[in-house]
Amino acid sequence: MTEYWDEHTDPLEVIRWALTNYPDLLITSAFNLNGIVLLELAALAGYTGEVVFVDTGYHFPETLATRDRLIERYPQMRFVTLSANIPLDPWGQEQFRTDPDGCCRIRKIAPLREYLARKKPSALLNARSRDQALTRQHLGFLEFGERLRINPLAYWSRQQIELFAQTYQLPVNPLYWVGFLSIGCWPCTRAVQPGEDVRAGRWSGQGKTECGLWVGRQSL
Ligand code: SF4
Repeated sequence: MTEYWDEHTDPLEVIRWALTNYPDLLITSAFNLNGIVLLELAALAGYTGEVVFVDTGYHFPETLATRDRLIERYPQMRFVTLSANIPLDPWGQEQFRTDPDGCCRIRKIAPLREYLARKKPSALLNARSRDQALTRQHLGFLEFGERLRINPLAYWSRQQIELFAQTYQLPVNPLYWVGFLSIGCWPCTRAVQPGEDVRAGRWSGQGKTECGLWVGRQSL
């Protein structure tokens, strides 16, 4: 079936295929616009599995409130919040300023990697899309690596994703509508200026574009 997929394939078809072939799959999410749309599509496809979120300790209050609204909206899913359980200022300095890669590694990647090592899902359902950033412009529905990653929204434009969210009245993080098109930790996120790509506000000026979760075959 996947051989017939192209950029016009309905994300719901991809999700239904994923649930049939990888019934133990998991969703990981930071509850950005794409992630929220993916959850709604997954619900429409009958997903009742886990939604895994990593609380770094640095999330905006609006992000945590968005998570809580989603928990109410999807009682059929099991929301799991992971944490590195590291104090915010363990060495008397703010690591995100001096070593953002290390900060992401211990606060985001390690807790999720440990959890997935225990759960051993055969696949992850992921919300990334091509037009979020140049680094994602070749994203496809399927990414093969240490673990299969399935990206149903790969070909949807930002306009399509926004329209879907509005049509289904999804509880989008309110920061999105004031320019925070991609929302991570507050120290490493700023609003995007007109003409910038969706992820331009992440680690702005720090020479970093990804937290490391989704880069390369040996990532999650
Ligand atoms: S996004 Fe920033 S604050 Fe969050 S884990 Fe990465 S470096 Fe640390």
